[in-house]
Amino acid sequence: MHDSFYAELGRLLVIGLVILLFGLLSGVWWLPILIGLGGYIAWHLLQMYKMEEWLHGIARNEQDLGSIWRYIAAYIRRIRHRGRQRKKRISRLLHRFYDTLEAMPDATVILKDELRVQWFNVAAQELLGLDSEARRKERRIGSLIDDAAFRTWLEEGNHDTPLEMPSPADASRLLQVRLVGFGDRQSLLLAHDVTELKRVEAVRRDFIADVSHELRTPLTVVVGYLEMLSEEELPEDIRQALLASRRQAERMQSIVADLLMLSRLEMDEDQAAGAEIVHVPDLLAGLVEDARHLSGEAAHPLNLHLDEELGIRGNEGQLGSAFGNLIFNAVRHTPAGTPIDIFWGREGDGARLLVADRGPGIAPEHLQRLTERFYRVDKSRSRERGGTGLGLSIVRHVLRRHGARIEISSTPGEGSRFVCLFPRERLVKLSS
Ligand code: ADP
Repeated sequence: MHDSFYAELGRLLVIGLVILLFGLLSGVWWLPILIGLGGYIAWHLLQMYKMEEWLHGIARNEQDLGSIWRYIAAYIRRIRHRGRQRKKRISRLLHRFYDTLEAMPDATVILKDELRVQWFNVAAQELLGLDSEARRKERRIGSLIDDAAFRTWLEEGNHDTPLEMPSPADASRLLQVRLVGFGDRQSLLLAHDVTELKRVEAVRRDFIADVSHELRTPLTVVVGYLEMLSEEELPEDIRQALLASRRQAERMQSIVADLLMLSRLEMDEDQAAGAEIVHVPDLLAGLVEDARHLSGEAAHPLNLHLDEELGIRGNEGQLGSAFGNLIFNAVRHTPAGTPIDIFWGREGDGARLLVADRGPGIAPEHLQRLTERFYRVDKSRSRERGGTGLGLSIVRHVLRRHGARIEISSTPGEGSRFVCLFPRERLVKLSS
């Protein structure tokens, strides 16, 4: 850059010297200055004219330009070339991006402002039934998919939880739909075919339900006979063997009962629980009595704080099982004599059940997984204490059906807190 500038400066200097010389020789100093500057400006004007022609592509050869103008033109040419290269690279990338989306087995729809269709892949045609007109007219996705649940889901705006819905193009297929925002008010609608997954899940659920059901009657008979026999006058070693068998058979009974409960809960997972009025204070008082029996000689002090006027609309059997699991866990997983506090009352505009113990607590890495089926922190200890590993999973399912959720917090060495939070719609004021 500077080379051509210095050359230009040099040229100006030579012109200046010539003007000076003429001025001295002629004795009329202003005339050569006027002619010199005029000529210089005229020359630059001519260069500008040529430059403009070159910029518009009329003149092809930048060599016709003079000094610094040639340099500027060369610089612009380089920038233009770089711009063209970048454009090509971006367009190649874009093609690759669209090719990748096109090859995806999941339906992918790019939506612009107001959820209008901008682009979609072949899978979206097959699974969502979209056609080219939708793209051409940039129609709103809500008006293209005729499914009430889909429209409500779109309007509610809470897209963190995916939606499951039948495929609009083939009702025998089940889709899991997600909406992810990106860029400037753009979104990506993704639909994954989960038909096969759901079928396998249903087979597993039915299998567990059938097996549990089939095991229930023989187990009742076995426990009945073992109970009868243990009342007989028998040698001590046989009596002990019978007692151990009875304990194990009863354990199996509770596993079977939990499995049956869980598979029933899983069957219509999203179905809301019934609307019978559940007298929660009475329910909890009964469960605390059962917990005292379970605690037996361990004599855990059980402190109950109840809002006697607060009830819930829901399913009493399910809620009893969920609350029971939390209270019995506190008894089973804490040392003898450890106090357990149970609170039932209002929380914000909803309701809260808190079961807090001062037992050994749970390490943070387990907290996330506690409500998974058969997840136990210490398998053998849980088994020893009569646990099945299904309790918290049942709690989660029951709460979900009641529009409620569970929050678990724990500090190892200090204790654990299990909180069930119920929404306002479920609350009932009980007459005392
Ligand atoms: P389990 O039948 O084994 O109690 P749950 O699903 O009810 O199964 O609980 C899962 C695991 O969570 C238990 O095995 C136990 O390790 C842990 N847990 C549950 N409640 C408590 C508690 N109050 N204190 C400490 N650990 C607990």
